Amino acid sequence: MEEYLSQLNEAQLEPTLQKDGPMIIIAGAGSGKTRVLTYRIAYLMSQGVDAFNILSLTFTNKAAREMKERIAKIVGTSEAKNLWMGTFHSVFAKILRFEGHHLGFPSNFTIYDTQDSQKLMGSIIKELGLDKDIYKTKQVYSRISSYKNSLITVKAYMNNPELKEADAMTRRPRMGEIYAEYVDRCFKAGAMDFDDLLLRTNELLTRFPSVLAQYQDRFRYILVDEYQDTNHSQYLIVRALADRFQNICVVGDDAQSIYAFRGANINNILNFQKDYDDVKLFRLEQNYRSTKNIVGAANSVIEHNKTKLDKVVWTANEEGPKVKIHRSLTDGDEGRYVASTIWDAKMQNQLSNSEFAILYRTNAQSRAMEDALRKRDIPYRIYGGLSFYQRKEIKDVISYLRLILNPADEEALKRVINYPARGIGQTTIDRLVVAANGYKRTIFEVLKNIDKVDININSGAKNKLKDFVTLIESFQVMNQTATAFELAEHVVKATGLLREINKEGTPEGVTRLENVEEMLNGIKDFVEGQQEIADTTGNLAEFLEDVALATDLDNEKGDEDAVALMTIHLAKGLEFNHVFVVGLEEDLFPSAMSMNTRSELEEERRLFYVALTRAENQAYLTYALSRYRWGKLVDSEPSRFIEEIDEQFVDNVTPKLERRINPMLSADIFGDVEPNKIRYKPAKQAVLKKPTKSIKQEQTKFQVTTPKNLKRVSATDESNNSNLFDDTLTVGNLVKHIRFGTGEVLKIEGKGADIKAEISFQHGGVKKLLLRFAKLEVI
Ligand code: ATP
Ligand code: MG
Repeated sequence: MEEYLSQLNEAQLEPTLQKDGPMIIIAGAGSGKTRVLTYRIAYLMSQGVDAFNILSLTFTNKAAREMKERIAKIVGTSEAKNLWMGTFHSVFAKILRFEGHHLGFPSNFTIYDTQDSQKLMGSIIKELGLDKDIYKTKQVYSRISSYKNSLITVKAYMNNPELKEADAMTRRPRMGEIYAEYVDRCFKAGAMDFDDLLLRTNELLTRFPSVLAQYQDRFRYILVDEYQDTNHSQYLIVRALADRFQNICVVGDDAQSIYAFRGANINNILNFQKDYDDVKLFRLEQNYRSTKNIVGAANSVIEHNKTKLDKVVWTANEEGPKVKIHRSLTDGDEGRYVASTIWDAKMQNQLSNSEFAILYRTNAQSRAMEDALRKRDIPYRIYGGLSFYQRKEIKDVISYLRLILNPADEEALKRVINYPARGIGQTTIDRLVVAANGYKRTIFEVLKNIDKVDININSGAKNKLKDFVTLIESFQVMNQTATAFELAEHVVKATGLLREINKEGTPEGVTRLENVEEMLNGIKDFVEGQQEIADTTGNLAEFLEDVALATDLDNEKGDEDAVALMTIHLAKGLEFNHVFVVGLEEDLFPSAMSMNTRSELEEERRLFYVALTRAENQAYLTYALSRYRWGKLVDSEPSRFIEEIDEQFVDNVTPKLERRINPMLSADIFGDVEPNKIRYKPAKQAVLKKPTKSIKQEQTKFQVTTPKNLKRVSATDESNNSNLFDDTLTVGNLVKHIRFGTGEVLKIEGKGADIKAEISFQHGGVKKLLLRFAKLEVI
């Protein structure tokens, strides 16, 4: 047997060696699904299947690259080069380059990113004279995006009175017009947005049977990772392509389906067996990633979901430390705890920074983490958020490059026609847009014929426009011979872009200059790298496509030793030695916006399951009692997910705080009632009740209760404070100070009248107070 196959257990070996026919592997986190896919491809190749005939779809391009490298080690680099691997978007963008002409698209079509799409929608809303407070660009964007992912074309929309009515109900009766105009403008600009890459592929495969037949014949073996997160559009593409040979292998975990909010349909995995004949179902049960405690904790949480397939996940790995749960007073304290714990763990276990990950529900939570890591000089890297290619200066350069390749690209043109400033005003640009719409031509075509078109622009402005056309055309000439790198370098100089940034003379300006330099380096690397792994020339078109589809995870520099910060959504499929899941608070995680229905809540729980199962050795779950949200300090309660973990797997680092159970929130609130009729009412601020026993006896047990039952022990209350200063105030107690507000006792030192407490206050930071004078109230 091939040596690499010995790195699989028996259950994994079976699907790996199953060469033909439809098959599905359903298995829990860390059980080797991705490993099986990888080895299966190597095995297929060893059985004589041509790499050209294999298509493998992954969740990120990074995952595809890693898989390819792994396979290259087994079968050799030159063979692995010919594999088609990547995300749905990147693979089908490539196919549309070859075949888009059937649909009237040029092979050099631009890919509009979200920002471009939203800008275009914004200007359409303006041109149509609609109220931008009702037709909010982001909402319009996500509505149109969801139509596209459900394959509702403009025509289908127009013929569907229900959809029109639904939009009219949200006071947007003219959605259809926006949609039609948007599609038309993209088409005219030779541009596709992200959703088009799937929608247009579907259109291509349905309308052109010969094209479908050609790709069915080509992709004789299709493999899909993370199948549970495919949307309807992706599902149809896979089904169409696999229809002829039916050699389709999908792997997934229903418990890790976390993209329903973007249209992913968990039924794709549940119904797979109905879609094909004689489907072989495989299950993997042994988790190789995590310790017993982590696997046990994750299993006990996901048990709370009603909609799930029965699955066993166990591990032969060691028991490991328990899942640590830590409470802080504020998000700032939470950050400090995480940073200091990373620091200590690094020292104790000789770990590198890259073995730690901090995962959160929302990007905004990274700030407190960053501040704390910076103070401790711990290198970190944030994934997601604003990607490198979306920074202004980078997008400016890219827009020039896009325009060179596709002068019809309206968004690129609008972005650079007057940047750096060349005296072309907004009125002129608006008139150009109107003229282009009137003549049914692109703006660039109007510019080229500016003397002939009927447009109210004076001759001075016309000359400036002509200069701009000449500039772009000179770049186009250069593009025929120069490398992408030479061209980009010339562009940043010849347009005056570098000079413009230089002029700023601010530290931010310096950073921007460095970014542009970094990008030029990136182009150079890309050209060289592309030749190495994919056997292509690495021209400008390829570079731009790579950029348009890069997720932030893909820009990772392999050699960087940094703590990883990212949202849980982005962490899917990854693993780290130590994982911190932070901000485990009601209304944040589960998110307040995802608690309206059982299915939303269950998706949040799956997200938590994904987070927990990223950890190999140690998981930390942290929450804060108050945090800044939207600029305000808000009180919060621990997340229900913490309570759902079986106690045997957890270690409460801080005294346990029981969550007040709102009857509305208890497990069965969705019982017989129609789920979307119930609205979750966020619990009011938690109030801490004095422990029933004396603080000293049982200081770790707090009960949270309603204000009516509230009793407080006050340090200034004569009847109560007799002994407070010398023996009842202990580390971990929550106290209230008249000026600094609520705080947590970090340390106690000294004796009798000299007793001092170090307290971390919500509003005043860490203070050392002499208890004799400090007016403290234990809460
Ligand atoms: P996820 O659901 O999180 O995507 P997965 O099911 O895809 O997880 P993998 O990432 O393939 O799981 O595997 C998890 C870890 O276990 C990886 O580090 C992998 O190398 C390791 N692993 C998988 N199978 C084996 C095996 N038979 N022997 C040793 N290690 C294994
Ligand atoms: Mg995986």
